[in-house]
Amino acid sequence: MTLHLFNTYSGKKEPFEPTNPNRVTMYVCGPTVYSYAHIGNARPPVVFDVLFRLLRHQYGESAVIYARNFTDIDDKIIAASQETGEPIHAITGKYADIYRADMAALGTLPPTQEPRATEHIEEMQRLVSALLDKGHAYAEQDHVLFSVKSFHQYGKLSKLPQDDIIAGARVEVAPYKHDPADFVLWKPSKEDEPGWEAPTDWGVAGRGRPGWHLECSAMIRAGLGETIDIHGGGQDLRFPHHENEIAQSCCAHDTGDIPLARFWLHNGFLNMGKDKMSKSLGNIVTPHELLNTWQGEVLRFALLSAHYRQPLEWTDSLLEQSKKQLDRFYRTLSEFSDVEEIAVEVPANIMAALRDDLNTPEAIAALHALRDRAASATGPERAQAKAQLLAAGELLGLFSSDPANWFKGATSEDGLADEAIDTLLDERAQARKEKNYARADEIRDELAANNIIFEDGPDGTTWRRG
Ligand code: AMP
Ligand code: ZN
Repeated sequence: MTLHLFNTYSGKKEPFEPTNPNRVTMYVCGPTVYSYAHIGNARPPVVFDVLFRLLRHQYGESAVIYARNFTDIDDKIIAASQETGEPIHAITGKYADIYRADMAALGTLPPTQEPRATEHIEEMQRLVSALLDKGHAYAEQDHVLFSVKSFHQYGKLSKLPQDDIIAGARVEVAPYKHDPADFVLWKPSKEDEPGWEAPTDWGVAGRGRPGWHLECSAMIRAGLGETIDIHGGGQDLRFPHHENEIAQSCCAHDTGDIPLARFWLHNGFLNMGKDKMSKSLGNIVTPHELLNTWQGEVLRFALLSAHYRQPLEWTDSLLEQSKKQLDRFYRTLSEFSDVEEIAVEVPANIMAALRDDLNTPEAIAALHALRDRAASATGPERAQAKAQLLAAGELLGLFSSDPANWFKGATSEDGLADEAIDTLLDERAQARKEKNYARADEIRDELAANNIIFEDGPDGTTWRRG
C-alpha cells in the first residue's frame, strides 16, 4: 500500500508522492519561545515525527528534509521580557533549549533544520518587497499589509465564508487597513522594542518587525524552497496562519497551482475535559513537569494512542494505561535479552496502518498482537519476533530504552530525562567548538542546577546524577 495522507486543502485522503523522491520536504510550525510548551503543543512534533520516520523509511534517511522553526520574535516574547527584565535573546534561547530537550525526551528525532525567525529577516524583507512590487501589498502608517482581495484563492484552505474570514481576522479598529481582512506583513517597533530598518523604497519610516505569518513563509523559502511537499501544524493554525502563509508565498513566488505545500496536514486538539488545552484557559500541563513522573516514552505512547486528526482527552488514566501497555512490551523484550538481533522488515499490517494516514491506534493494536505471538514463540521464531517488534517500535519511536532500565521507573527525580541531558551536552560541545563560551556556561549551570555531574574526557563527556 502506498502512503495516503488526508490533505486539508482538498478535503480528501490522497496518495502521497513527493515532487522529488531524493528531496522530500516537510515544514511544521514550531513554538513561540517565551515559556514552557504544554503537552498539547507536543502533539504536532510527536505526530509529525512519526511521519518523518515513515518518510525516511520509504525514501531514505538523507532524502527527507524536515524543518521545525522557532518563533523568536513576537509580541508575547517582548511582553515577557518587559515583565521579567530578562533580555529577549536570553528568554528565547532558554525556552528553545528546554523545548528541544523535552521533545527529545518524547522520542522525537532532531529535525533536519531548526530555523529561528530572527535569522531570516532578510528573506522576510525580500518577500515583502516582492509583494509590494507585484501589487499584493501596500504600506500605510508605517505598516505593510497584505491585500487579501488581490489573491483569489484566499480562503481555499480553511473553506471559511468571507464573513467568517473578516470576523476571524479579529478586526480591532485598525486605521492602517484598507480592508478589514488584510493582515500585517510588517509593523513598526517602538523605541524599546526590537526592530530592523526597512528598505527605503517601502515607504515606511523607522525600525519595524515582521508579522508572524510572514516568518514561516520566509523560513520555508530559505530552507526548503518556493513550494514544499508537506506542511503541518495543529488545526487552529489553518486560519488565519496557514491561509496567510499560502497567500504570501503564492503571490511572492510563481507557485503555479501549488498552494505553497502540496499536502496540508492538521492534527486535532488535545483536550482537558471538554476544553482545548491552552495557555489562555490556564488548563495546561507541561511535558517538562510530566517528565518528573513519567518516562518520555509514556507521554509519547499516550499522544499516539488516538488518530492524529481526532481529539484526544488528556487524563491520568490515559497515562497509567500507556505505562501499563509499555510495561507489557518491555516485559516481553526483557525475556528476549539473550536472543540475537537480526534484521527484518516491519510487519506488513503495521506498515499498512501507518501508511493509511498515520493510523497509530491501529498500528499499536497490531503491535500488541505481534507481542502476543512473540511471547509464545519458540526456537528460531524468537529472533524473528523480537526483531519485528523492535523494527515496528523504531518506526513509531518506541522501545528505545534498554528493557533492564525501563523497569527502574521514571526518568529521574530531577526532571531531566537521559535524552535531554545528552542533547544539552551535545549542544554544549557544539557551543565550545564555536567558541560560544557564554552558551556553554549557561548549559553547565542548567545541568548543575539539575544535579547532573559531568566530566570532559578524551573520549567525550560522561555524566551521572549527583
Ligand atoms: P502555539 O504555541 O499556540 O502557536 O502552538 C504551537 C503548536 O501547538 C501549533 O501547531 C498549535 O496548533 C499546536 N497546539 C496548540 N494547542 C494545542 C492543543 N491543545 N492540542 C493540539 N495541538 C495544539
Ligand atoms: Zn507557521
